[in-house]
Amino acid sequence: MDFSARLKELESFERKDNKASLSSMLKQNGFTRRDFLKYSSAMAAMLGLSSTFAPTIAKAIELADRLPVIWLHMAECTGCSESLLRSDAPTIDSLIFDYINLEYHETIMAASGFQAESNLENAMKKHKGKYILMVEGAIPAGQSSFYLTLGAHAKKGEEIAKQACNNAAAIFAIGACSSFGGIQAAAPNPTNAMPLSKITNKAVINVPGCPPSEKNIVGNVLHYVLYGTLPALDNYNRPKWAYENRIHDLCERRGHFDAGEFVQSFGDEGAKKGYCLYKVGCKGPYTFNNCSKLRFNQHTNWPIGAGHGCIGCSEPDFWDNMGPFEEPLKSHLFKSISADATSDKIGIGVLTLTGLAIAAHAVISSVKKD
Ligand code: SF4
Ligand code: SF4
Repeated sequence: MDFSARLKELESFERKDNKASLSSMLKQNGFTRRDFLKYSSAMAAMLGLSSTFAPTIAKAIELADRLPVIWLHMAECTGCSESLLRSDAPTIDSLIFDYINLEYHETIMAASGFQAESNLENAMKKHKGKYILMVEGAIPAGQSSFYLTLGAHAKKGEEIAKQACNNAAAIFAIGACSSFGGIQAAAPNPTNAMPLSKITNKAVINVPGCPPSEKNIVGNVLHYVLYGTLPALDNYNRPKWAYENRIHDLCERRGHFDAGEFVQSFGDEGAKKGYCLYKVGCKGPYTFNNCSKLRFNQHTNWPIGAGHGCIGCSEPDFWDNMGPFEEPLKSHLFKSISADATSDKIGIGVLTLTGLAIAAHAVISSVKKD
């Protein structure tokens, strides 16, 4: 694979003069060139490239300040932004986010009121057809769009998002809310909250999770910097490089699942021994994401590692479909998952025997153990 033409094209793009260079930002925060290359090598692996691409990835990251990014906040809690920005010490991911040409982001920009509105309009005009749009939050739409009015002119969120989508080069729905509606769209959905993909005709890449990991957010920017095209997607428009595998298949507790060793209640002997969390509600068998490989907070831990089951937050309508979160699923909706399931094959609502076998396996194993 040859990325040289793409990298050359990016080099010709205008760079913001007042930006510190990435190498000086890394140095100031205690990261060496070696750390950066190690990070680039890990990012190459995450995007499905061999480690020989580490220098190419490093170059692509250094050119990430050439692509303008507009980040909009709709109906949301800002947890997705916080996932990236609020580490106890700056991470390479958060420094890259500081370094990219972030033209508009309400949480971290100084402007407010009329000035903020005109900043957004100017950014959309200046970078028409060239900017990456990232949207956090669901969007109250249609007759309910008045539930989300924003800015000094009290514009509807739906109107702002549509306008921003129209002129974007690539669109990413960041988080469960923007990808699938999230908690705002959970029944009875009083504000008629919609996923971003429902209010625009343009292609939207979903990056679900509540919140998605910092790696999945930065990885998507990086993929676009490197390829200049949209990634391969699964049935729910999630990038396959991040959402292809099932949590259950790469889980560190999987051996215990196969051996029929389950936590029966939180705090019991099984919990102390790190047994499988299926019986206390883990939805890892029905969920596609890379948390089991990449973890959170600089790779330190993830929910299952900390002793709570996966709640399925990267799946559509998980608030309605995956609960109660601390009990195994009773609903028939997700019993379509087979042992070799991939995110492409899964279709919610399809009942297969293999799905039932997962539940049956847990029951039989527990009888055997008890
Ligand atoms: S996906 Fe979760 S963390 Fe992100 S804005 Fe929605 S509720 Fe908050
Ligand atoms: S059920 Fe959950 S805890 Fe158990 S192996 Fe699967 S993903 Fe891991």
